[in-house]
Amino acid sequence: MKEIVIISGKGGTGKTSITASFAALAGNAILADCDVDASDLHLVLSPIINAREKFLCGHEAVIRQDVCIGCGACLARCRFGAVTRLETEGDWNTHSRVLANCSDCDICKRSCSVRTNQVIQEMIDTGCSPRESSFVIDPTACEGCGVCVWTCPVKAIDFPERDSGEWYISDTRYGPMVHARLNPGGENSGKLVSKVRETAKQIANDQKRDLILIDGPPGTGCPVIASLTGASLALIVTEPTLSGAHDLNRVLELTAHFGIRSFVCINKWDLNPEMTEQIETETVKKGASIAGRIRYDSAVTRAQIQNKAVVELHDEPVGKDIQTVWRKICEYVAK
Ligand code: SF4
Ligand code: SF4
Repeated sequence: MKEIVIISGKGGTGKTSITASFAALAGNAILADCDVDASDLHLVLSPIINAREKFLCGHEAVIRQDVCIGCGACLARCRFGAVTRLETEGDWNTHSRVLANCSDCDICKRSCSVRTNQVIQEMIDTGCSPRESSFVIDPTACEGCGVCVWTCPVKAIDFPERDSGEWYISDTRYGPMVHARLNPGGENSGKLVSKVRETAKQIANDQKRDLILIDGPPGTGCPVIASLTGASLALIVTEPTLSGAHDLNRVLELTAHFGIRSFVCINKWDLNPEMTEQIETETVKKGASIAGRIRYDSAVTRAQIQNKAVVELHDEPVGKDIQTVWRKICEYVAK
């Protein structure tokens, strides 16, 4: 089974338009949208979702207000500023009442389950004026470290798995597609990418299909590495600009590090032919291959507006460019 990953050093270079066209040209590939932070292959391929599953990853702390005694230990111990004390005048809880009437008997220090006087001092310093008794955790700031859960003397903090998004198995006009949506601020996108890839492989095995096309994320971070690892080939899409050349170099270093055969395709090459030449020269020096050039053409925007892959528009020169790149990739994959 071959896995072709289409990636780019930065977003907006046109890799999803190219992936959608490759899907149309291949006809029988399994598609995997691994750009889970900003997936958009579905906008072109209009998938029909057949199955969806929650992506649970990491944990988040949630205070059970009916159990919390307002001691403030979680606020004192959270290194990420995720715990907030709310002003709740008139809503005194047990601990606040204790402090309001504190006669300095020392019993809290002696009976503290955490067994440290420092905790008691932190409770007093940070959270425990008699009229400030309610504590909440901001789920977007919580890093799921679990320190507050361990610290809470009355076990008032739940620690459920975090609902971080969803992933889907769908049908498209060009074959099955696995894709996902990461919740805003959701972390561990690399794990979600791996889930999408694993599922795509499983479907390919079940259906005896021998090609997976992966729309990878931009950049060089964890989700990109998760998209690339073990792939047969990477097509890196870039633009003829300084930032395009710079980001391409970083991706080429990454693919070289993982020993993945790389091809480079320059999108909108005719906007800066000199820079295109420079990029191609550098690419070859770095041991990668040139897959081809794709011209700037308003037909790409027309295709996007119509929810079509560029090659679905008939006789457009830009579509022919993409076909040339596809043929070059197929030549290598067929070897
Ligand atoms: S789990 Fe960690 S990050 Fe989250 S609120 Fe508790 S101490 Fe703070
Ligand atoms: S440590 Fe526990 S009891 Fe103390 S304020 Fe936090 S949740 Fe409430």
